[in-house]
Amino acid sequence: MRAVLKNFINGHWEGGVTTATSENPSDLSAPVADYARADGRQAEAAVEAAREAFPNWSRSMPQRRADVLDSVGAELLARRDELGSLLAREEGKTLPEAVGEVARAGQIFRFFAGEALRIPGEKLACVRPDIEVDVTREPLGVVAVIAPWNFPFAHPASKIAPALAFGNTVVFKPAELVAACGWALADILARAGLPAGVFNLVNGSGRQVGRVLAEHPGVDAITFTGSQATGRHVLQQAAARGAKVQLETGGRNPLVVLADADLDRAVECALQGAFHSTGQRCTASRRLIVEAGVHEAFVQKLRQRMRQLQVGHAEERGTDIGPVASRALLDGNLSYLDVARAQGAEHVCGGELLQRRTRGHFMAPALFLAAVGQRALRDEAFGPIAMVLRAADYEQALALANESPDGPCAGICTSSLKHATHFRRHARAGTVMANLPTAGVDDPVPFGGRKASAFGSREQGRHASEFFTTMKTAYLCA
Ligand code: NAD
Repeated sequence: MRAVLKNFINGHWEGGVTTATSENPSDLSAPVADYARADGRQAEAAVEAAREAFPNWSRSMPQRRADVLDSVGAELLARRDELGSLLAREEGKTLPEAVGEVARAGQIFRFFAGEALRIPGEKLACVRPDIEVDVTREPLGVVAVIAPWNFPFAHPASKIAPALAFGNTVVFKPAELVAACGWALADILARAGLPAGVFNLVNGSGRQVGRVLAEHPGVDAITFTGSQATGRHVLQQAAARGAKVQLETGGRNPLVVLADADLDRAVECALQGAFHSTGQRCTASRRLIVEAGVHEAFVQKLRQRMRQLQVGHAEERGTDIGPVASRALLDGNLSYLDVARAQGAEHVCGGELLQRRTRGHFMAPALFLAAVGQRALRDEAFGPIAMVLRAADYEQALALANESPDGPCAGICTSSLKHATHFRRHARAGTVMANLPTAGVDDPVPFGGRKASAFGSREQGRHASEFFTTMKTAYLCA
């Protein structure tokens, strides 16, 4: 019998009210883990434990916090292969991507170990010489970390590490699809020498556990990554009681391909941007906006390259694209394809379910030609699906890129420095890529979207202190 993965509350491992099993989307006959699902009462207990632990932790020596984060980062890096294999099994990312994600999570912890020793502050001039004015940053209190399933190590790392570095205590709720990855990260933190209550793990549903964290008056700040609908709900609940909120949600990211682009390179950017991680990234290229002069050649080359992609078991050597992460997501993708077809989008290739040796959620990456205004372009397909749009010229391509109400990332492929520079200035997205696939960013670089896909300050990098601390201005008169 498999051991049941427990919740970590106030320094103890605890069962839950029910037990659930997380699946392997590459092979439904080989479940990954059984985990204990907590209820709202246990989420409350975790918040209370974090509140109690906060005064001492917030006054702890920065070097102590740095040592803890450093050791967590070192363990993630040392165990990247083993944990990468768990990630590949539970979420379906290919093994190289999964190992890379665990390593990135390790580097994020190590980066914030350094930041714990560098909490920013400043001294300001004042009109009176006997008065000193300084601005310092203080921890917020209890931070709830509500995470999505698609980056089960990197996303929590970029929230938990800065929260702890700056002296906050944490209640972490992973997405249920990746409960075992969430547990594995918590297990490392639980052994890292943190006092009881400083870090807590509560596995459970969004409706029960997530809702309590969003509504609980003892939670001072919520950092959330997930869908726009849930993010808006969390924001309403939290804002009603004055909690600080940081949201990163999804988007319909554009990749513009101009006629002067190196076409082979542009096709590789589209291939990676749209289909790597099975298209299950908030930064995935959903709309490929191609200038008329190269539209046909681009589509033809992209279709050829898509045919060469190996869709298969996430852990098998040679797999380019793993499975869709769950049955519900696969159904969502299929109904998105139905909508696209019904709206008159022209099918180029892909979208069919694939039979494999093992039973899993395998789908061939899909490409459609779409016309401006079609509904499929207004919804986020969270899977390996991309739409190609034709633009008459650069100006129209930019206008199409900017018409989406959200904006995690926007890309352009061009050999014109003038257009790349103009796009960099005028693309309304949190991250802009030129001659690179749309993607997330390296660990020391700040990350965040624009418009409806983000709220609050950025994640990662040195600017993370803006969210995870509060500013205090002090006047000191001798
Ligand atoms: P989701 O919104 O369904 O769930 C995110 C988290 O919120 C989960 O832990 C879930 O259990 C929890 N939750 C659900 N209902 C809740 C409620 N009522 N109150 C509080 N918490 C609740 O999103 P998902 O399916 O896990 O993730 C996919 C989405 O995340 C996509 O839309 C994707 O674009 C987005 N995403 C964005 C980024 C980014 O950085 N911008 C990164 C990755 C994913």
